[in-house]
Amino acid sequence: MEINIQTVGMTYPNGKQALKGLSLDLRSPSLVGLLGPNGAGKSTLMKLLVAALLPTTGSILVDGQPLTRVERQLKARLGYLPQDFGLFDELTVEQFLDYMAALKGLRGPRAVIRQVIRSVNLEEKARAKIRTLSGGQRQRVGIAQALLGDPELLILDEPTVGLDPEERIHFRNLFSQTAQDRLVLLSTHIIEDIQSVCGQLVVINRGQVLFSGTPEALIQTA
Ligand code: ADP
Ligand code: ADP
Repeated sequence: MEINIQTVGMTYPNGKQALKGLSLDLRSPSLVGLLGPNGAGKSTLMKLLVAALLPTTGSILVDGQPLTRVERQLKARLGYLPQDFGLFDELTVEQFLDYMAALKGLRGPRAVIRQVIRSVNLEEKARAKIRTLSGGQRQRVGIAQALLGDPELLILDEPTVGLDPEERIHFRNLFSQTAQDRLVLLSTHIIEDIQSVCGQLVVINRGQVLFSGTPEALIQTA
């Protein structure tokens, strides 16, 4: 999969200009780390990539086709973890993932659900109600739903927030393994989380790309 973001601008209805002529190329397989301070435009960029928002100016191409035209096909190939992802407290982990799998139209959900629960290390909580989970466990449920259906494109907004150091290492390994034959884009403001595993780092600030390249090149620039 190849994604070309071409001079994309995004201005919210209140006049806030979150992205300013941002251009960026992404190509699988790759683990891409998106870095930048709060308010830089990371979440906005991710929402545009999952077609939850439409750019005000510019365009996004997916395999050479405008995102607006391939939006429906893309949704089936996409896993997304938004920031502040809402969970249903009264459902069990399994019931929630079953619901998300149904929304995605996945067939044979039992095996698929068992597999994502295993990959986020939540087997012992599969039958527990979400309201009884810790913050890190809830975040892992969010990551699990993004992994449903083994998507070609994974967009993860601050996936390691709320995880303890051991969990961070687990997910660092999981994401880099997943990215062997996929495109994984994850945002963070903790560079240590991604420096060692990302092939491409993208630094954005005030809605523009400050840097895009390998971690080694970023260190040389600094
Ligand atoms: P980041 O994810 O890097 O913290 P965001 O993409 O969330 O940045 O935000 C970029 C800018 O756009 C910020 O100034 C933020 O306040 C603003 N913004 C985000 N969402 C909205 C919105 N729905 N309406 C207006 N402004 C917004
Ligand atoms: P997230 O990045 O978690 O999806 P949002 O995009 O909703 O969050 O918000 C990011 C930032 O944008 C927040 O700091 C918030 O204050 C600001 N923001 C969100 N919605 C609006 C809005 N309608 N008007 C102004 N600012 C907003």
